Amino acid sequence: MANILAIGIATLDIINVVESYPTEDSELRALSQQQLRGGNATNTLTVLSQLGHHCSWGGILIDEPDSQIIKDDLAKSNIDISSCKQLASGKMPTSYITLNKKTGSRSIVHHRDCPEFSFLDFQKIKLDDVDWVHFEGRNIAETQLMLQHLKQHYPHLPCSLEIEKPRPDIEQLFELPDVLLFSQHYVESLGFNTASDFLTSLKHDKLIICAWGNQGAWALDLDKNIVHSSAFPPSQLIDTLGAGDTFNAGLIHSLVMDIEPQKALENACQLAGHKCGQYGFVNLTTHFKLQS
Ligand code: ADP
Repeated sequence: MANILAIGIATLDIINVVESYPTEDSELRALSQQQLRGGNATNTLTVLSQLGHHCSWGGILIDEPDSQIIKDDLAKSNIDISSCKQLASGKMPTSYITLNKKTGSRSIVHHRDCPEFSFLDFQKIKLDDVDWVHFEGRNIAETQLMLQHLKQHYPHLPCSLEIEKPRPDIEQLFELPDVLLFSQHYVESLGFNTASDFLTSLKHDKLIICAWGNQGAWALDLDKNIVHSSAFPPSQLIDTLGAGDTFNAGLIHSLVMDIEPQKALENACQLAGHKCGQYGFVNLTTHFKLQS
């Protein structure tokens, strides 16, 4: 099993499950409420940890009551937080999530008042025993320095970058990692209607992945072939929050195990589909075996 480091954020997620999505200016009683740890990078690590990997997180932790929920959850998943920067004041990023019970869809309002993890923080992490580094596509200038540092000093250490949202200058990062993981939202924001149109428009020499919700996912492999896996819908759609993060974990797990792209894509879709059939990530892999 591998040592996997992810750089990104942890959030407090306040999730209201509702019978159906509210109309504007209406009042609705939630069926239930949960407060959980969220954040793309830490979600992905939670799943990777269940798959047997040694996971560590590089991000910001603020000394305030909400960070305890986050720390307790990361500890439960055996995620090492010794690379995090701890700050005495501020507020952990918080996501207010409305989860529609009928459709499993999630709508998110995000609030943050928290600095980003910097290149200086990243440079303090010992990377000699790390087998894979995963980045969230945020904090562009600093992430660029981190990726350049890896390329220069650890050229054989594979790394992946998730591009979830359009952000100014984000395309400056695309040359640097070994694997690019694009979201449907990002691809559509560029005006593409299909993943394969987007993938064939790219000139980069690397593995490029596009997750596409209930249609599964597409990839452009190193030989410039388009590869597709359909989705694996669960018998009942319960919760799609974190499907993309689970997909990323399934993919990184497969690639770190040297599984070829077509199978890696299928593994990622199977695991993400399985996740859509349950709330959260707890015991996600207990009754689920990925093929090797
Ligand atoms: P997110 O919205 O969390 O970024 P996506 O919607 O792109 O994630 O989905 C990521 C992966 O999760 C997809 O490639 C697919 O394999 C799986 N997935 C998402 N929604 C469904 C669904 N309704 N049914 C089955 N699988 C799904």
